[in-house]
Amino acid sequence: MARLLLSGVAPLPLLPCRRRAIAFALPLGNVRLRLRVAAPTSRVATVEEDDNENNAPPPPCEDFDPGAAPPFGLADIRAAIPKHCWVKDPWRSMGYVLRDVVVVFALAAAAARLHSCLAWPLYWAAQGTMFWALFVLGHDCGHGSFSNNSRLNSVMGHILHSSILVPYHGWRISHRTHHQNHGHVDKDESWHPLPERLYRSLNRATRMLRFSIPFPMLAYPFYLWSRSPGKSGSHFHPSSDLFQPNERNDVLTSTACWVAMAALLAGLTFLMGPLLMLNLYFVPYWIFVMWLDFVTYLHHHGHNDKLPWYRGKIDDMYRNGAICGED
Ligand SMILES: [Zn+2]
Repeated sequence: MARLLLSGVAPLPLLPCRRRAIAFALPLGNVRLRLRVAAPTSRVATVEEDDNENNAPPPPCEDFDPGAAPPFGLADIRAAIPKHCWVKDPWRSMGYVLRDVVVVFALAAAAARLHSCLAWPLYWAAQGTMFWALFVLGHDCGHGSFSNNSRLNSVMGHILHSSILVPYHGWRISHRTHHQNHGHVDKDESWHPLPERLYRSLNRATRMLRFSIPFPMLAYPFYLWSRSPGKSGSHFHPSSDLFQPNERNDVLTSTACWVAMAALLAGLTFLMGPLLMLNLYFVPYWIFVMWLDFVTYLHHHGHNDKLPWYRGKIDDMYRNGAICGED
């Protein structure tokens, strides 16, 4: 767990203790379980220290094992969630889509009609937030919580995500990998810390884009295109190592939808003019990207309490990682 750099921030300073514990309280029926997990954020070793780590005695830490499975199973967690939360209502889900789409077009129509310097910034913020809402609905399609109908989930996921230039299946599959490995330095997909050796190997421009605000807030399209530093592949390419061979057709379908949306935007730009399209679509798009990066960064790192990161072989990474997010 040593020698980590948090994505989006400068390298961490050296502090006296290697890691500390965070207590999580989970209400499971009438029982409240407390789990202590590692939070390896209070000290970061240098490369040289880390090279000597195997010879050094283990640091004094509290009585917890960061790799130990939580003292409850997925069935316990499922049982603790109220039953009504498991009900999928496609009509209700479609109602959310209809409501958000109506708001998106109403905002665009109002802003285009007003066409004033005062109205545009308000529109950008509101429409960027609505694009984020569309992403969240597509996210539910990707998780299968939109409805029990996988075809409906796929169709709506493509419509929603393509409209904001996200390749639905490419993202869905890597997002699954993210949830399966949440909090794992080497296997997680989003906002994982970089090992110091990798950080040192980055060129100056990459370091600035990765670690200097506001650039990391604009990272999502670049992540979709070429993933994170140290990883290969693309969310658009069916042969990427992100995907299994049987997922290639899905990825191709989503990339085709993305290209169709890009062509539509190009056509609208030709018809309506670049300035109007910049105001109507492209500025709100970047506001949406900032929302996405902001929310997912906080989900991984928390605000007051830092969250644990794992490394190496973890017996039940899904369970360990799933409880180490912050919402
Ligand atoms: Zn998710």
